[in-house]
Amino acid sequence: MANFEDNVRASFMVAKREIAGLKAMVSRLKADIHELSEMNGKLIGSLSRVPGGVKKVSRFIAGKSTDLLHDQGCPFAKRMLPKNTLVFRSKRVALNRGYRLCECLKKYRKD
Ligand SMILES: [Zn+2]
Repeated sequence: MANFEDNVRASFMVAKREIAGLKAMVSRLKADIHELSEMNGKLIGSLSRVPGGVKKVSRFIAGKSTDLLHDQGCPFAKRMLPKNTLVFRSKRVALNRGYRLCECLKKYRKD
């Protein structure tokens, strides 16, 4: 029976060491999180100082292998990998390069 007790005691010691290791890891992670959230706060602060703020810019997305131009919110545009797309700030620039409008842009054409 002494052998069994020794085994139990040894297992508890191992568990105790692991728990101590995990505690140390958690406190390191907490410090990292604190540091990152401070960094995040600074970044947000500096973004709000950029002239014009962080207002959303509308963009138009075209696939490199197609001649269709999409609104950035179009499901087709969202499905394309960024490396396969071209981004235009204005519809006119894309149209001048020979791109055609996807249905998603034709819908809102009246404005
Ligand atoms: Zn589209």
